[in-house]
Amino acid sequence: MFETNNTETYFGQSDLNRVSFLRHDEDFIRQTLTHKSTVVIPFIKGEALLSDNDLLTVTVSEDAAMRHVIETMIPLLNTKESRLDASGVSLTFLGLLESTSTDFLTYKDEYKGIPYYGINFVVDEKTIIKPKDIATFEKYSQLLRGPSLFELANGAASLYSHAKMYLDWLTKYKFCPGCGSVIYPIDAGTKLRCSNEDMNVKCDVRDHKVNNICFPRTDPVVIIAIVSRDFSKVCIARSKRKYHDVVLYGLVAGFMECSETVEHAAAREIWEETGMKCDEVSMVCTQPWPPVNLMIGCIGFVDFNGVNEKIDLGHDPELAEAQWVDTEELMEAHANYKGGMIVPFRDGSYLPGNTAVAYQLVDYVAEQYKKLQGKSQCNL
Ligand SMILES: [Zn+2]
Repeated sequence: MFETNNTETYFGQSDLNRVSFLRHDEDFIRQTLTHKSTVVIPFIKGEALLSDNDLLTVTVSEDAAMRHVIETMIPLLNTKESRLDASGVSLTFLGLLESTSTDFLTYKDEYKGIPYYGINFVVDEKTIIKPKDIATFEKYSQLLRGPSLFELANGAASLYSHAKMYLDWLTKYKFCPGCGSVIYPIDAGTKLRCSNEDMNVKCDVRDHKVNNICFPRTDPVVIIAIVSRDFSKVCIARSKRKYHDVVLYGLVAGFMECSETVEHAAAREIWEETGMKCDEVSMVCTQPWPPVNLMIGCIGFVDFNGVNEKIDLGHDPELAEAQWVDTEELMEAHANYKGGMIVPFRDGSYLPGNTAVAYQLVDYVAEQYKKLQGKSQCNL
């Protein structure tokens, strides 16, 4: 069997120590919000901001407007007033960045680094933070989903993804699924609590013995490089949905369902979308994909026997086309790739660029193919 690797995917770099066990420690959170090194990644209406083509980050101690926002929010933490609709602000603690500078925060002699936060502003004249309080940030252009996002260095892209996923959740989830009361952030914006204090009003969320809060949501997606056992062939596929105006080939992918293993989800998606029988699935690498997904990159082996490898798009009408191609042809396309969101393939068609996990999966298949080729040549 081949070994799995530790491929680092776009959005998937992990520079922060999340110290998740300290998020409920109010003293720690207060210190991280008021430390002179603290850095905030501001978002306006769910979009991050661009400064000199890079993700805008703000050191709170050097920015009067951000200092005012933080000082206003500290007394509201863990109260109903801190929720986005009342305050105009969602705040979420991201973690500590280990630093060689002498200015980092030290907590209990053990936990050290520069505190990082994400903050989202959705303000109006009725919210506690007013439009005038954040006017200074309006001059920056928004980091919209597109080339400017996918051209960030991976460190910045991964910070963006981390903040975006929490802030998007804090923006969308406003009411308790158990009783309809407003919910408000606790643990520095990483959980939401039901505000219903009337015990005569039943709430299955509040009254549940264990999960009496709402957690952020991540929706897992399996994405599979379907290969022949010797890695010499890969099945590429094209969705009926157009990618701008180009023909873009990718890999088979789909949402995992409840109570399904990754392996079963991958084999099911392969059968539903291509009609092929997958004999074995291995996980290779994963990628956070903001705002809510985790891409789980897999290899799906199909043992060629004249039946298993036959493509039939008749079950699920999602794909426009699927075909087996030689791994060597994909390797050549990757070798000629000059960067950007898509890789030129055949005339007028493309493959996903290196910010997509499909690219890492194809590279992985190529590596395994080369290894096997090397072995068979040694055996000659
Ligand atoms: Zn409730």
